[in-house]
Amino acid sequence: TYWGNVNPIGLRSMYDEAKRFSEACTMAYHRERKVDTRIVRIFNTYGPRMDPYDGRVVISFIRQALNDEPITVFGEGKQTRSLCFVSDLVRGINLTMESDFIEPINLGNPDEVTILQIAKEIIDLVPGTKSKITFQPMPPDDPRVRQPDITRAKQILGWTPTVSRTEGLARMIEFYRD
Ligand code: UDP
Repeated sequence: TYWGNVNPIGLRSMYDEAKRFSEACTMAYHRERKVDTRIVRIFNTYGPRMDPYDGRVVISFIRQALNDEPITVFGEGKQTRSLCFVSDLVRGINLTMESDFIEPINLGNPDEVTILQIAKEIIDLVPGTKSKITFQPMPPDDPRVRQPDITRAKQILGWTPTVSRTEGLARMIEFYRD
C-alpha cells in the first residue's frame, strides 16, 4: 500500500524513481498488453557470491573482518536494517511467480537490527580477527530505520523467512573464508 515518498531531484533520485517507474511500466504492460507480470519489492538481502567491493553493509563488514581491516560503521551505527538471507528471498520470488497475485509484494526479513549490532555479530563470528570498529561520516539521505511489512507474503504466498541472521552470516563468512 506504500505509494513512495521520493525526492525527484535528490542524490538518490535515479535509484528511487527507477523503482517507481519500473512498477508503473509493469502495470501498464499488464493492463494494456495483458503481459503476465509480478512485482516484488526486495528489501536488504545478503549471502554468498556478493561482490566484496559493492559497498553494501554485510559484505563490507565480512571482507573487513576477514582481512583484519577496520570495520567502517557509518554515523553512530544506530540506524537499523532488516537482513534477508538470499535463499529465503529466492524461495519468495519463486512462490510469487507461481502465484497469480499481480500487486506488489514485499520480500524481506522483518528481524530489525542496528548497524552497530551487525558489526559486533560479524566480529564475533570471525574468531581471531584483529578488526576494530571505526565510526565514519553518515552518508546523505541514509534511512534511519527500515523494516519490511511482510503480511502479504505471509497471507498470499505462505512465505516467511527461515534462515536466522546468525546462521546466514556464518554461511556467508564460510564462503568468503574459502
Ligand atoms: N553502512 C555502514 N558501513 C558500511 C556500509 C554501509 O555503516 O561500510 C550502513 C549504511 O550507512 C546504511 C546501512 O549500513 O545505514 C545499510 O547500507 P547498505 O548500503 O548495505 O544498504 P541500504 O542503505 O540500501 O539499506
